[in-house]
Amino acid sequence: MFDADAQLTRRTLLARGAQAAGCAALAAQLPWAAQAAEREDRSSGRVWDVHTHLTGFPGTGKERARALLKYADRMGIDRLIVFLGFSRMPSPPPAQFREDNDEVLRVLEAAPDRLFGFVYLNPNYVEESVRELDRCVRDGPMVGVKLWIALECNDPRLDPIAERAGQLKAVILQHAYWRTVPNLPDESHPGHVAELAARHPDVAFISAHSGNDWERGIRGVRAVPNVYTEVSGFDPTAGVVEMAVRELGAERVIYGSDAGGRSYASQLSKVLSADLSESQRRLILGGNIERLLRPILTDKGIQL
Ligand SMILES: [Zn+2]
Repeated sequence: MFDADAQLTRRTLLARGAQAAGCAALAAQLPWAAQAAEREDRSSGRVWDVHTHLTGFPGTGKERARALLKYADRMGIDRLIVFLGFSRMPSPPPAQFREDNDEVLRVLEAAPDRLFGFVYLNPNYVEESVRELDRCVRDGPMVGVKLWIALECNDPRLDPIAERAGQLKAVILQHAYWRTVPNLPDESHPGHVAELAARHPDVAFISAHSGNDWERGIRGVRAVPNVYTEVSGFDPTAGVVEMAVRELGAERVIYGSDAGGRSYASQLSKVLSADLSESQRRLILGGNIERLLRPILTDKGIQL
C-alpha cells in the first residue's frame, strides 16, 4: 500500500462523514430511522477495528503494536482492539493465558489512547478464567473477553464467564467458524454463539468472522438480538456486508480485520465497497462497537 492511496482513503472517509450528517437529518423524519440516527450521533464517527493480534509482525510486543498502528494510520483506523498475546495455544493452561494477557497489558500501556484489550480466557479452567477476567477487566484496563477454540461455547462451563462479563459490562468476542470441511475439535460455530447468547440476553456477544461460511453464519445468529456479526478474516467477497445488514440490521454488524494475519485494506474493502447508506457504514466501521463499549469505558473513566 502507498501513502497516497492511504491519504485518499482518509479524505474519502472524512467526506463520507460530512455526507452522513445530511443523511441523519433526513433519517430523523422517520421514527425507526431516527433511533439509528440518534445512536450514530452519539458515536465519534471514527473507525475502530474490533479484531487485531500481535502475531504476524516481528519483535517485542511494543514493536509489534507500533507496526499495527503504523499501518492503521495509513488506512485511517483510529482505534484497535488487541487480544491473544503471542502463544496462540488452542487450550492454554492458566499460567499461559495469564502470560499472554500480560503481554497485551504491556502493549496497552504503550498506547492507551489508540488500543483497547480483550482478555483471553480458557473455559476449560472456569475458576481461573473468572479470576483472570477480574484481574484484567475489573481491576485492569481491558474492556472485553476473547474466546477462541478451547471449547464449544454452548457448553455450560461458559456460563460463569458470561455472567461475570455481564456484571462488568464487558463484551464477549467468540471465534466462530462453519468450515466447508469438519470444524477443528472443540471449535465453536455461530449456532453455538447464539445458544450461549440466548442464555445471557444482557451480554453483547460478537460472532467473529461471520462464521467464515458467512451466508450460514449470518443466518445462524439472526434470531438472537444480542449477537453481533463481525466480518474479519475471510477473503473479501462482494455482498457479505449487504447480506449481514439485510438479515441483522446495520446495528448488528461490526468491522474487524484480524490483522496482522490479514491486511486492513482487504478487510476494510468489504465495508467501503458495500452498497450501504453512509449512516450504516459509520455504524459498522465504528459506531456499533463504540456503543457496545461505551458503558464499560464510562465506568473506567475513559473519555472518547
Ligand atoms: Zn483472530
